Amino acid sequence: MNRETYAYSKTLMGTCVELILHESNDAVAEIVFKALQQLEDKLTVNQSNSEIMAINLAAGLNPVVVSSPVFALIEQAKKASLIKGSCFNLAIEPLVKLWKIGFNGKSVPSLDEIEQKRILTDPNLIHLNSDEQSVFLEKKGMGIDLGAIAKGYMADMVKLILQQHGIDNALINLGGNILAVGQSNCVEQYWRVGLKKPFATNDEIVGILKVKNKSVVTSGIYERYFEQNGRVYHHILNPLTGYPLDKEFISVSIISASSLEGDIYSTILYGKGLYESIDVLSKRSDLGAIFITRNNQIKLINVDDKTFELSDKTYQLKLN
Ligand code: FAD
Ligand code: MG
Repeated sequence: MNRETYAYSKTLMGTCVELILHESNDAVAEIVFKALQQLEDKLTVNQSNSEIMAINLAAGLNPVVVSSPVFALIEQAKKASLIKGSCFNLAIEPLVKLWKIGFNGKSVPSLDEIEQKRILTDPNLIHLNSDEQSVFLEKKGMGIDLGAIAKGYMADMVKLILQQHGIDNALINLGGNILAVGQSNCVEQYWRVGLKKPFATNDEIVGILKVKNKSVVTSGIYERYFEQNGRVYHHILNPLTGYPLDKEFISVSIISASSLEGDIYSTILYGKGLYESIDVLSKRSDLGAIFITRNNQIKLINVDDKTFELSDKTYQLKLN
């Protein structure tokens, strides 16, 4: 059995994107990175000439016609934002830009500034016209940010590209958003995915996930944050308060078939907290979840201890 892997990487979306194949295939890697670059250029809010920025700059003025993948993703993101009790909000951009967490944000904005931006984050004020494929933000100052969903969408898209090129086994890593396509030719036919140790400065992991044909997406508070007066302010914001969500866990990783759904649910469940999340997951046996709590527990929901192997014994494993 072929045990060799071939790794291709590129910096995109401010992170390292990696593609692991079981064959040497520079041409496919190039096609994948080109497609990702094109999508980044359409979706980014970090450059002014993207399709999303065209919508944001026209807020309160006029609708903007966008390409079909962008329209479809905005539709999905709006749907996720309108789920009852969902903290996921595609209209969060004014608050993201105010806090600048992960982008040189170093101090807490004033209550006034937060409130002025918070009132611009109602997803109901994002109007979609599917006949024209146009998007209109009703109030000036509104903005769309797809940071909590785009990488999931992109990972699923890479899987399709690979399959169109006859590649059924691969690992896609979009800066921690991971999608295992098919199975691995290596050890036990599972792809082995390390779960990062929160706040570790190097590549330490707390354990290994063994997956086939699954996505593993993590939402956590330990990569994009700053500290002020002993408090950690991280990048997942509560649309109801305008402040970072304050929960009893540090990260949640979702194991799912679709990476888009994993990305949506990693953010939604981060916002729900542990006990409400467990309730949601009791009705969604197709979604596995791994929570790392503030008191060093790792709680597995719809995931068994064969799928997740703990390696860092300073953490305690808690099954369903
Ligand atoms: P998730 O939990 O999935 O999402 C959190 C992110 O979603 C936040 O960073 C914020 O952007 C947004 N968000 C915050 N609160 C909410 C909420 N309540 N509801 C919905 N969304 C919320 N990073 C760079 O450093 N430089 C770049 O140039 C850069 N370019 C990017 C371009 C694109 C197209 C994309 C998709 C991402 C880019 N990023 C870049 C990363 C981006 O800024 C986010 O930090 C990243 O997508 C967070 O993803 P996550 O999976 O860690 O967190
Ligand atoms: Mg997400």
